[in-house]
Amino acid sequence: MRKDKSQNLIKRPPVVVVLGHIDHGKTSLLDAIRKTRVAEKESGGITQHVGAYQITVPAAKREKDEKKVTFLDTPGHEAFSQMRSRGAKVADVAVLVVAADEGIKPQTKEAILHIKKAEIPLIVALNKIDKPEANPERVKSELQKEGILVEDFGGKVPLVKTSAKTGQGINELLEMILLVAEMESLKADTSKPAEGVIIESYMDSQRGPMASLLVEQGILKTGDVLATPSGLGKIKILEDFLGEKIEQVFPAQPALVIGFEDVPRVGENFKTFSDFEEAKKYLKPEEKRVLEVLDIEEGMKVLNLILKADVVGSLEAIEEILKSLPQEKVILRILTSDVGEVNENDVQLAKSGKGLILGFRVKTNTIAKNLAQRDKIRILNFEIIYDLVEGVRKFMEKILEPETVRNDLGKLKVLVHFWAEKNRQIVGGRVIEGMVKKGTLIEALRGEETIAKGRMVNLQRNKKDIEKAAKGEEVGILFEGSGKIAEGDILVIYTQERQKGVL
Ligand code: GDP
Repeated sequence: MRKDKSQNLIKRPPVVVVLGHIDHGKTSLLDAIRKTRVAEKESGGITQHVGAYQITVPAAKREKDEKKVTFLDTPGHEAFSQMRSRGAKVADVAVLVVAADEGIKPQTKEAILHIKKAEIPLIVALNKIDKPEANPERVKSELQKEGILVEDFGGKVPLVKTSAKTGQGINELLEMILLVAEMESLKADTSKPAEGVIIESYMDSQRGPMASLLVEQGILKTGDVLATPSGLGKIKILEDFLGEKIEQVFPAQPALVIGFEDVPRVGENFKTFSDFEEAKKYLKPEEKRVLEVLDIEEGMKVLNLILKADVVGSLEAIEEILKSLPQEKVILRILTSDVGEVNENDVQLAKSGKGLILGFRVKTNTIAKNLAQRDKIRILNFEIIYDLVEGVRKFMEKILEPETVRNDLGKLKVLVHFWAEKNRQIVGGRVIEGMVKKGTLIEALRGEETIAKGRMVNLQRNKKDIEKAAKGEEVGILFEGSGKIAEGDILVIYTQERQKGVL
């Protein structure tokens, strides 16, 4: 949520997002927190999903007030980044859940990326600490590799050991959240017209368009006229996360609104207005996403990409993470980036732009599949962003030229030139550095200048064939190649390897 600098301010609760790899315990932790902090009879009454809930932490010994914390309970990075892609800064604090037995996984890396981009403070919940295989030290050093330095590794990121199963560390985690939030000094102005952000929305077959929201400023009341860029309405019913009817909603308090005429989009900011006429001015058709156009230098290799994903949030995350791939040798150019299944237009574009189609959690329609097969267009589908990035990296390496790597073995000083015929010469000399070996390559130097280049066809010592000779030995060499070697020249003996290109 946005911080406010104006005068008429009250303290508001922090909004917390919980991120992490699948199965590391996000849902379980959110449930455990809810259970311990929302009275049994109340939590039993939860009939709907609002996308967030609020808990109350009792006042600590020397404090007089209890404290509230709001948790976004739609775990899933896409939801979070979708909110952010529309400019919403929803969360104040992130909890990164890492299972102590499994450590950092692809989606943990993804979560870290999201948190860094959102520029919000982070607390690590080292979950499943009850498991015998839990290995906190390993996870800490894995986190360090990802640029997250926890407190007992000399860093600033707090780490709390938790178990959603036994309840260990839950209170400590809440205390830590409050402590971190305290330092953010989160305030809101309740005298302003209410505004905030949509955190969930859907069409209910009986009740019509439903929107869950968080108020950032002001107090939202029944009867208020409100709008987002994609929808407007007048609030008929306000409900809290327990499904109870309420008349007003305070900053950082999640609520469900009934009264929108259309379903507003997740992540949009809403504002309140004096009447419908004013509210209409706030409506705006969604802008087409503008893509960066890179200036490509002549001769550079380019990999054209066509991105298709399930939601805007995924596209944004993919574009962001692709930018982090090294592009000194191969430039990535995103031709289009759109939501929805891979279709025939994508294949057409891939054909004309010699591009690669990347699908993320989307299907390819049959026409596109057939066209792609006919025109030999590659369509790669992924479920995890990390896999997608690795797939692109492999593709980039494939289009790099293999590199030749030269490996110098030794030097020989030519003492006699015996014989020459066409492109062959026999010389005698002493190995003055390293070693020489039959079948290797030779570069003859006269001072700084290269005067001959070729191959060592045979190697002899005392007129007997040998395979190699070391420093100090005198040998005869049958050279095949171009240039004329003479007494006093230095022969550099080397091998050459072709290696696959590295980005
Ligand atoms: P999510 O995908 O991150 O939301 O993970 P879930 O909350 O669904 O948890 C995945 C699995 O791990 C479930 O079977 C949970 O019961 C289990 N689990 C979650 N937290 C803990 C924990 O602290 N200890 C143990 N032993 N199991 C846990």
